[in-house]
Amino acid sequence: THFGFQNVAESEKASKVAEVFHSVAGRYDLMNDVLSGGMHRLWKRFTIELSGVRAGNKVLDIAGGTGDLTRKFSRLVGAEGQVVLADINDSMLKVGRNRLLDKGISGNVHFVQANAECLPFPDNHFDVVTIAFGLRNVTHKDTAIASMLRVLKPGGRLLVLEFSKPKNPVLSKIYDTYSFNFMPLAGKLITNDADSYRYLAESIRMHPDQETLKAMMEVAGFERVTYHNMTGGIVALHRGIKP
Ligand code: SAM
Repeated sequence: THFGFQNVAESEKASKVAEVFHSVAGRYDLMNDVLSGGMHRLWKRFTIELSGVRAGNKVLDIAGGTGDLTRKFSRLVGAEGQVVLADINDSMLKVGRNRLLDKGISGNVHFVQANAECLPFPDNHFDVVTIAFGLRNVTHKDTAIASMLRVLKPGGRLLVLEFSKPKNPVLSKIYDTYSFNFMPLAGKLITNDADSYRYLAESIRMHPDQETLKAMMEVAGFERVTYHNMTGGIVALHRGIKP
């Protein structure tokens, strides 16, 4: 705004996101399983299926964190392909890199510290870009979506896996109670950090709903944008193609 309030809020958001992920990095994988009851594995599996990644492809997994998607892509693209796991947060990157190396994943995977809003990659470079549970943490989402479009090859696909809005009002109510009560409690018990999980619940509530995100991708220039609701719309997977 004229008075700069917007900028203060924006820089606060970025430093809050940094603080949250530095704090939770070591316990991130455990928390994912606990909070989603293991369901994040199914949501990610569907993302892999819809990505259509094949041997020899170049894939960018932005906000890749501890590397669940990267690990699967690494196997699919094979020795001729390449997967870049990029994340803004060096604690998350470190946990991700160690975890993948422990699992014997190397060779075709590269780790890059990068902000989704200004990706340090050439134009028309990747066959597939994924961002899983990352976009809601990005301050300037439109800028990030434009940056992802730029680095994709024509015909390349963007997949956005993110919390969304449940369709059923009863489910929505239950989910709201769950996120604002159980999430901070589990955060307190497992990471001794209720605050970070309160932030995550809040960021889920603030994130654009299915149709809004679809429109944002279309405005950025993606074609054939579709989305699939999972678990009643608690999570949605959006896909768009670069013309
Ligand atoms: N993709 C992984 C997954 O699905 O398990 C990790 C998701 S984790 C909830 C969100 C990740 O987004 C964190 O690792 C965080 O550091 C990263 N992140 C937040 N803002 C970002 C930005 N502007 N650019 C790149 N990564 C960002």
